[in-house]
Amino acid sequence: MCGIFGIEDHEDAAHYAYLGLYAQQHRGQESAGIVSWDGERLALHRGMGQVADIFPAKVLKRLPGKMALGHCRYSTAGTSILANAQPIVVKTSMGPLAIVHNGNLVNAVEIRHRLEREGSIFQTTSDTEVILHLMARNPREDVVESLLIALEEVRGAYSLLLMTDNCVIAARDPNGFRPLVLGEVSGASCFGSESCAFDLLGAKVVRELELGEVVVARDGRVESYRVSHAEAPSRCVFEQVYFARPDSQVFSDPVSRARLAMGKSLAREAPAPADIVVPVPDSGLFAALGYARESGLPLEFGLIRNHYVGRTFIEPQQSIRHFGVKVKLNPVRELIQGKRVVLVDDSVVRGTTSPKIVKMIRDAGAAEIHVRISCPPTRWPCHYGIDMPTREELIASSHTVEEICDFIVADSLAYLSLEGMLSCLSGPKESYCTACWTGEYRVDISAEDRRQQELFPIRAEEYD
Ligand code: AMP
Repeated sequence: MCGIFGIEDHEDAAHYAYLGLYAQQHRGQESAGIVSWDGERLALHRGMGQVADIFPAKVLKRLPGKMALGHCRYSTAGTSILANAQPIVVKTSMGPLAIVHNGNLVNAVEIRHRLEREGSIFQTTSDTEVILHLMARNPREDVVESLLIALEEVRGAYSLLLMTDNCVIAARDPNGFRPLVLGEVSGASCFGSESCAFDLLGAKVVRELELGEVVVARDGRVESYRVSHAEAPSRCVFEQVYFARPDSQVFSDPVSRARLAMGKSLAREAPAPADIVVPVPDSGLFAALGYARESGLPLEFGLIRNHYVGRTFIEPQQSIRHFGVKVKLNPVRELIQGKRVVLVDDSVVRGTTSPKIVKMIRDAGAAEIHVRISCPPTRWPCHYGIDMPTREELIASSHTVEEICDFIVADSLAYLSLEGMLSCLSGPKESYCTACWTGEYRVDISAEDRRQQELFPIRAEEYD
């Protein structure tokens, strides 16, 4: 779970990278970094925390040049320390290289162990560094060739941006797990995880990178290459369900449209005897609107979110968690009192949040609470870059829908079916990754990587 942004051939490259990250802050709040190139040297600044705090004007001034890459991070591989913040910058025989990565490789530990046995020394515990090592060991006159060799070895999810002393390179894995968009602003090429970054900059979306495509932006021109092996398309549906901003286009689909459609399907599949529809803000907003439109029930903002808390699950520190969900949400009693409520949220993960919200709504005087979730029960952890707890911690892996309903003390509970969810997306059903609901992993995780994940699970402790 990360946001990336890159720009080539623009006078204000670092400022644009900053704004590109600002718009994508929801994709990771643990650390952020920007690297720029001014024709002579790479300038790098990284810090823990949020973009606005890490990059005051005086810091941005120290990032000169016409090329820049930026990254905001939430760790899904590697520990939460500054050394693992990106961009990662190295010197190779091909010149300086900087990299940012969204996604999770599934054979990085295996490759790393092999390279370490052969003498490589790693600076970080992040899976991304493996790509740089593979490139450094296979230098070519054209750095793109070296990257293509490295990408033949790695498996899993990557949307990558690299910067050399003369170009910005974007690469998307052959499964297309994570989004990556090519844009244009004042004649310069830019790349970002989500189109909402381009809206802020006044940039035009040119297109999404194709699966297995490598795009090189050099001297204001763009060239396209391919990773030679093909894989089954596996776009992550969770981006559409939860992670991406609703004002973004992801996988060439407006997220708002997909979420509205999910809410409508949910209303058809799981109607409820209720008076009002209440969204769990912000993630449940669009699905609740869809539910309300389809059911004909009024949408009421019965829960208000404190926007200054941030997306708490993305905050790996434990400092605010004792306050629980109250710090984030507060009910509007006047709207809820005496009402039969359909409460719409995007997902139940561990099941720690839902009982607290249900209780909050009940305490505010609701007569009945019917919980509706706009995706199927989440039963399997993600190996491809979404932060999910282990299987044991996912409530739906060991409890039936009825049991979860009892656990959250709702009057009824229903999830959107897999079919219903997939029918809300514009691409063919088989082109999406549904592993967290079905356990069908399209790309196997290596034994060594699995062992590492089990030994050192990287995740937010609790995010209620
Ligand atoms: P939980 O208490 O674990 O069931 O949290 C569910 C809430 O966290 C829902 O309101 C979701 O919007 C949000 N959420 C969705 N995906 C994730 C995730 N990968 N990790 C943590 N929280 C998530």
